[in-house]
Amino acid sequence: MKTALITGLGGQDGSYLAELLLEKGYRIIGAVRDVRRTEDSLPITLKNKVELVAWSMLIQEEMVSVMRHYQPTELYNLAAYSSGAGMYDDPVGIGEVNGLSVVRMLEAVREVNIGIRFCQASSREVFGESFEGLQTECTRVNPRSPYGAAKLYADSMIRIYRQHYGLFACSAILFNHESPRRSLGFVTRKITHGAAKIKLGLSQELYLGNLNACRDWGFAGDYVRAMWLMLQQSQPTDCVIATGESHSVREFCARAFTHLGLDYRQFLADEPAAYRPAESVPLVGDARKAKEVLGWEPQIRFCQLVDMMVDADLQMLKEKNN
Ligand code: NDP
Repeated sequence: MKTALITGLGGQDGSYLAELLLEKGYRIIGAVRDVRRTEDSLPITLKNKVELVAWSMLIQEEMVSVMRHYQPTELYNLAAYSSGAGMYDDPVGIGEVNGLSVVRMLEAVREVNIGIRFCQASSREVFGESFEGLQTECTRVNPRSPYGAAKLYADSMIRIYRQHYGLFACSAILFNHESPRRSLGFVTRKITHGAAKIKLGLSQELYLGNLNACRDWGFAGDYVRAMWLMLQQSQPTDCVIATGESHSVREFCARAFTHLGLDYRQFLADEPAAYRPAESVPLVGDARKAKEVLGWEPQIRFCQLVDMMVDADLQMLKEKNN
């Protein structure tokens, strides 16, 4: 039986990855900062099916002792300070957790068992204000935030450990991915939750920033499958994981409200604080390498993703308000 150690198991991707690996017969260990809180927030599909252990992303000795005890075959590092609005907050903390902790984990792998395979949830934020329209593994990096800079440091160290020590370590360079489990701080979930509230008469307006901002949005379940595939290959390699499609916040809104039989233009209000500087080059990923090497392609497309999120929010709000 394979054992997967997952950091950030309580987050969006962690829960989808744990579900996928349970289906595949893995033993799942979640290394989290707060066992009780994570246990309480697990979806029903994971309750009593995963083992949780506390570790600090700042203490290498704890990582060594957890790895010694559980002897994982695969390690997925999903824990990180979030992107979005928090990308500029606490740059020292972000550097520690999103950057240096990856090196702590790689060192722990070296100490415990060099055969542990390691996958890092990297981010398209390493490209930041990009120079090229479609971003690949070869696109010049240019992070624009402490979050992106810390992820880039982690990617660089992973490559160094791969080349210098022969570790099976790789970075999945993930473009935005969403789901009904996305936190409410992100624009996609803000829209689907807000639209569902309006539909149920629980709210009259939805406040949003720049409607013309565009993103490459995929489904989280597809993206964790890519990370798993990366660790099943004969050689470690970094891959961009993206849909290759760009959609605006306006399109996202239009789809969400239309799905509920509403016209979004009647409900939107301007929220200047949510405006971000516009990108001069679209943020769109080119996942051709993932297709060629991993046989990976996204299964859920934009409209299905929006509909799925709207339906889940509608259901959740109905249950809560009954
Ligand atoms: P979530 O915000 O849903 O989950 C993040 C997880 O990280 C949570 O479980 C959280 O723990 C944990 N975490 C945050 N800060 C700390 C800390 N200081 N110490 C320990 N754990 C911490 O994010 P996602 O699941 O969406 O993302 C997973 C990974 O993928 C992240 O590394 C993210 O940077 C990366 N990524 C995500 C993208 C996306 O669009 N979703 C795009 C690109 C990269 P707790 O449960 O205790 O709060």
